[in-house]
Amino acid sequence: MIKSDVLVVGGGNAGFAAALAAAERGRKVVLLEKAEEASSGGNSFYTAGATRISHNGLEELIDFVEPDERHAVSEVPAYAAHEYLADLRKVSDGRNDPELSGVLVNESNPTLRWLQGMGLKYRLMYERQAYRTEEGGYLFWGGLHVGNVGGGKGLMADHRAAAKRLGVEVIYGCAATGLILEENRVCGVRYRTSSGEGEFRAESVILASGGFEAAPGLRRQYLGEGWQNAKVRGTPGNTGEMIVAALDAGAAKGGDWSSCHSVAWDAWHPENESNLELTNQLTRGGYPLGIVVNNEGKRFVDEGADYRNYTYARYGRDILAQPGSAAFQIFDASSRPMLRTEEYDMPGVSVVTAPTLAELAEKAGISVTGLEETVRDFNESISEGPAFNPNVKDGRRADTQPPKSNWARSISTGPFYAFPVTCGITFTFGGLKTDTWGRVLTESAEPIGGLYACGEALGGLFSGNYPGGSGLAAGAVFGRRAGCVA
Ligand SMILES: Cc1cc2nc3c(=O)[nH]c(=O)nc-3n(C[C@H](O)[C@H](O)[C@H](O)COP(=O)(O)OP(=O)(O)OC[C@H]3O[C@@H](n4cnc5c(N)ncnc54)[C@H](O)[C@@H]3O)c2cc1C
Repeated sequence: MIKSDVLVVGGGNAGFAAALAAAERGRKVVLLEKAEEASSGGNSFYTAGATRISHNGLEELIDFVEPDERHAVSEVPAYAAHEYLADLRKVSDGRNDPELSGVLVNESNPTLRWLQGMGLKYRLMYERQAYRTEEGGYLFWGGLHVGNVGGGKGLMADHRAAAKRLGVEVIYGCAATGLILEENRVCGVRYRTSSGEGEFRAESVILASGGFEAAPGLRRQYLGEGWQNAKVRGTPGNTGEMIVAALDAGAAKGGDWSSCHSVAWDAWHPENESNLELTNQLTRGGYPLGIVVNNEGKRFVDEGADYRNYTYARYGRDILAQPGSAAFQIFDASSRPMLRTEEYDMPGVSVVTAPTLAELAEKAGISVTGLEETVRDFNESISEGPAFNPNVKDGRRADTQPPKSNWARSISTGPFYAFPVTCGITFTFGGLKTDTWGRVLTESAEPIGGLYACGEALGGLFSGNYPGGSGLAAGAVFGRRAGCVA
């Protein structure tokens, strides 16, 4: 039997942040990861590394991000903690836990600087979060500006190196299967490896084992009928058994168990689940520049309701609700060049192209009359008002049903493009109830001795929607906090 001071279950961003914080305090730390090393890193590996922190603009960030010659011609608007808090409230319609949210927005910046001190590297995300200005510079938008060098792959490689330096023992291919309780205190976990089963004992157990998005049965049970059909964007390992084990041990549920983060996702690619090579390239985030229709040719969301960062995580649900859980993002020759190369020129990208809308619809399996009518109506409803400007919410509207509130441009110049999308599930918002230090609480708000949670396993921050880049920030902040007290 192995013994440690701190046992971390799950080797994603939150688990490694927890492990680093505990090891920094001189605790003996063991981290168990279900996946083999080659496929490890959890959902964190699949990310773009985009991390939402509050900051005072480029002047403050300049000593934090890696040097880049474009800095001299870049504008990075400050993003204050109160703006971050307002965004969390706005996208969740006020259902976010105020205490957890307060900690997240205040500690996101110092926590990333702490991780940078541990050897993680950050940069400004030019390719995702800025468009060129008329003067030839770059203007950042959407409150999400920094990310890891090398994306999620770089993030997890840096984490592993930092953990090695601090003497954290990482055991791959080892799945925790249950909690060991003695006298109402958690004192270890049961585990399974390819060679057998056993027990690990520890003073503190930190659950950083993600949500339950990769368990179709739990998805159907908590998110509702149809969710079992969503495509899993990230790791197949987040199947929720340790959340269930904590509930069985008396933990309370935290946050919104009935909603999740889900996006527009390549529908036709043959390997569109848990794809370790393409990772987040299967996302289709360019819809604010075009329109989205179902296979009847009808629009069903406001593609320009807000910056992509504030809408993409809820539109997966709307796509799931369409006939066949399918939709198409439609662009014409004028908008196509503005789509991000990483996603829309991905190797093996699913796309239909045609010189006319009728041929496009025919080839894609969309109703021809439906698409033609929708595009005609959409084009005729575009306001004569402000000029198109993707860097700001330009107020260039299409006044139709549903409206397009910004960035409406006529779809009229061939060739036309249809990108088939379905619902890709990212992570579940429901998790365990904790205090702000990750101590897992019972229904009567008593801490369960020895048990902590962080990352996606902790519920309460998000509901219905999510501001892009908050998942990695939350994992780092609450992982570090749990590691500071466990
Ligand atoms: C395609 C994609 C792109 C994304 N892009 C971004 C982005 O750019 N920015 C952002 O902020 N967020 C992004 N997210 C969300 C982000 O990945 C998560 O919010 C964050 O990574 C969660 O970190 P975590 O450590 O809690 O979970 P994970 O990184 O998922 O780690 C959990 C780990 O626990 C392991 N595990 C599960 N059960 C057990 C068990 N029983 N025993 C042992 N180990 C177990 C899993 O194998 C996994 O490795 C993205 C997600 C996906 C899927």
